[in-house]
Amino acid sequence: MWCKRVSSIPAFELSQQFALIGEDLGDAVLEVLASGRYIGGAAVEGFEQRFADYIGTAYCISCNSGTDALYLALRSLEIGPGDEVITSPFTFFATAEMISAVGATPVFVDIEPQTFNLDLNQLEAAITPRTKAILPVHLFGQPMDMTRVMAIAQSHNLWVIEDCAQATGAMWGKAKVGSIGHIGCFSFYPTKNLGACGDGGAITTQDAALAAKLRMLRDHGQRQRYVYEEIGMNSRLDAVQAVILQLKLCHLDAWNRQRQAIAARYQQFLAPIPSIGLPQSPTGGEGVWNQYTIRVHSAPHMPCPGEQNPRDVLRQQLQQHGIGSMIYYPVPLHLQPVYRSLGYQPGQLPVAEQMAREVLSLPMFPELSATQQEQVVYALKESLSQCSNE
Ligand SMILES: *Cc1c(COP(=O)(O)O)cnc(C)c1O
Repeated sequence: MWCKRVSSIPAFELSQQFALIGEDLGDAVLEVLASGRYIGGAAVEGFEQRFADYIGTAYCISCNSGTDALYLALRSLEIGPGDEVITSPFTFFATAEMISAVGATPVFVDIEPQTFNLDLNQLEAAITPRTKAILPVHLFGQPMDMTRVMAIAQSHNLWVIEDCAQATGAMWGKAKVGSIGHIGCFSFYPTKNLGACGDGGAITTQDAALAAKLRMLRDHGQRQRYVYEEIGMNSRLDAVQAVILQLKLCHLDAWNRQRQAIAARYQQFLAPIPSIGLPQSPTGGEGVWNQYTIRVHSAPHMPCPGEQNPRDVLRQQLQQHGIGSMIYYPVPLHLQPVYRSLGYQPGQLPVAEQMAREVLSLPMFPELSATQQEQVVYALKESLSQCSNE
C-alpha cells in the first residue's frame, strides 16, 4: 500500500495561490458582502471594463460560464437550425455542445499534432453553403493562427467565434486572443488560467450592436425592463466572483509568464526522451500553457504489459510515484455517443483520434517549482524504463 507521500505533486492545485492572495480575496469578498449588492452593480461593471481593456476589445459582457458565453455568442449571431459551424473535435464538449444547443450542426475538422489545434489546411474543404461560422479553440492555451482563420472567414463571409476558455492572455501577433474574431468566449472555471472561486464567463467583442444583443440575451431578452424582445436566458457573473476575478486579473500576466517558464523547462528536460512527443507553440503566437500536454507514442519500441495503451500505463505509474496527470481528452467529439447521428466513422479524423490515445497533461500551475519539475521528470523516466525495459 502506498502511503500519502509528502512529496506528491498534483496535476493542478490552488493552495499556493491562496497563500499568496487569500487575504486580499477575503477583504474584497467581505466588502461585497457588506455592500448588500450581490448581482450587477459597480463590481460587475468594473470587472467588465477591466477585462475588455486587458483583452483589447471595446466591450466585455460577463456571464455565468464559458458554456453560456458560447451559447450566447452563437445566439447573438442568429446561428440556428440548418446552419453549420466548423470546429475542432479535440476540445471540451461544451464547444460542440452549444453549437447543437442552438439547433445548428457542428462540423468537425481534424487537428494538427504539434499544437492540438484545428488544421487550417483542411478547413476550407469543410465549408458548405450552410456554413455560418468558424469556432476555433485555443486549446491548452496555444493560440490558433488567427491571421489565416480571419482570411478564410472573410473570403467565405463567415463569422468567427474564438473559444478562449483555456487561453486568457494568449497572444496572436500583437493582439490577445478574443480580440481578433467577431466574438471571444472565456471561461473562469477555477482550473482555467484565470479562474474564479466558482463559475464565471465572459464574452468580448469590438462590435457595439453585437454587445447590445449579447447583453439583452443574457438578461431574458430584455433591453428595457419587462419588455421581452427575444427568448433569452439568465446568465450572470455575480458580484463576489467579479471582485475575485478583478483581483486575480492583476496577477495574470505574472502567472502566465511563470507558466511559460515552466513549459520551457519541461521542453528542455523532456527533449532527450525518445518515446514522448512535446507540444509546440505556433510561430507568431505566444501561448499561456493552461496545460502542458505531452504525447506518449504508442510505438512498438515501448511494449507494455498486455494490450494496454502505453499512455494509460504511464499515467498509473506516475500516480504510484505520487505524480498527478490528466487526460484531456480521451474520446474525440466526433466519436461521442451523442454525435452518432452525425455519421462520423472511426478513422475519419485520424490525428484527433491518435491524440486522444496519446495525450497526457503533466502538472502545470504557476507555483510549480523547478525541484518539483525535476521530480516529475525523474518519475517519468523511471516509469518509461519500467514500461519498455530499455
Ligand atoms: C472549460 C471550457 C469550456 C466551458 O467553460 P465552463 O466555464 O466550464 O462552462 C468551453 N470550452 C473549452 C475549450 C473549455 O476548456
